Amino acid sequence: MGKPKVAFYWCSSCGGCEEAVIDLAEDVLKVVEAVDIVFWPAALDFKYEHVRALGDGELAVTFLNGAVRTAEQEELARLLRRKSALLVAYGACAYMGGIPALANLTSRAAILETAYRKGPTVVNPRGTVPLETCTDDGRTLRLPRFDETVRSLDQVVPVDYVVPGCAPPPDLTLQAVLAVVQGTLPPRGSVLAPDKALCGTCPRKDSKPDDLRLDAIRRIHEVIVEPDRCFLAAGVLCLGPGTRAGCGERCIRGHMPCTGCFGPTSGVLDHGAKLLSAVAAMFGSNDPAEIDALAAAVPDPAGTFYRYGLSRSLLRGRI
Ligand code: SF4
Ligand code: SF4
Repeated sequence: MGKPKVAFYWCSSCGGCEEAVIDLAEDVLKVVEAVDIVFWPAALDFKYEHVRALGDGELAVTFLNGAVRTAEQEELARLLRRKSALLVAYGACAYMGGIPALANLTSRAAILETAYRKGPTVVNPRGTVPLETCTDDGRTLRLPRFDETVRSLDQVVPVDYVVPGCAPPPDLTLQAVLAVVQGTLPPRGSVLAPDKALCGTCPRKDSKPDDLRLDAIRRIHEVIVEPDRCFLAAGVLCLGPGTRAGCGERCIRGHMPCTGCFGPTSGVLDHGAKLLSAVAAMFGSNDPAEIDALAAAVPDPAGTFYRYGLSRSLLRGRI
């Protein structure tokens, strides 16, 4: 019997999750030794017909990163689902919509208008916008449909596992591949990261007060936070209390607060609402005017609390 066949694919993403696979560095040799990578368009010249030629379920696992916004991405998500025994939502965008899902705060028409007509650097005297079908000089050109909204992968096809993160760290990626090969995966539906909040593993946790009260909210450039001091204790919004651990506290160790890319711990329906409610519960005042002033100190509430999770939230976007 040959080695298990594995695929990697990207949809609406920045490419960071592809870099995360490369970040395996010499550990990529362990992956290559354990599996056959048969589809990875970002790195190797595979074609869609190579995937179509596979039998249903022939791929042991596909790691798919990026959210779904176009007809091409939806088609590949459905194709890879059919060809894969296991489908893993790899990274925050496939898992929850990620940064691309912030586009759900506006409309498809407004995006096209800004990108092709009104953007400050756009020169487009004929006001041309992309069309799905365009006939020119006797030739017909086709583009994939650009959907009205950005969807997480599980809003398109059933997903078996999640590797969270923006981007997922190399150790979780390697563990996920090896768990598939060794048959040591947890129950289907699991997020392949510890089910506890980031504060529990944070190197600054000893300076986080038990009864934390926020009297002011400051941006990171407005205050000097000592290297071992909890960001929230210094009044800087850190989303560690409502975010899953497992990233190696990368931002915290780089002296930046957590922005929530690992998503929630299990049982949380709406990550943004959970984060918002956790922060609001720390407001150190019952006075409506002071509460308004604290809330106003968060300049972009949707982008702060729903930075990675808008597709998978209860609201999903602006109607
Ligand atoms: S709030 Fe942020 S800095 Fe403070 S303990 Fe939690 S993760 Fe660490
Ligand atoms: S600290 Fe937060 S935002 Fe940074 S990698 Fe970890 S989970 Fe993601």
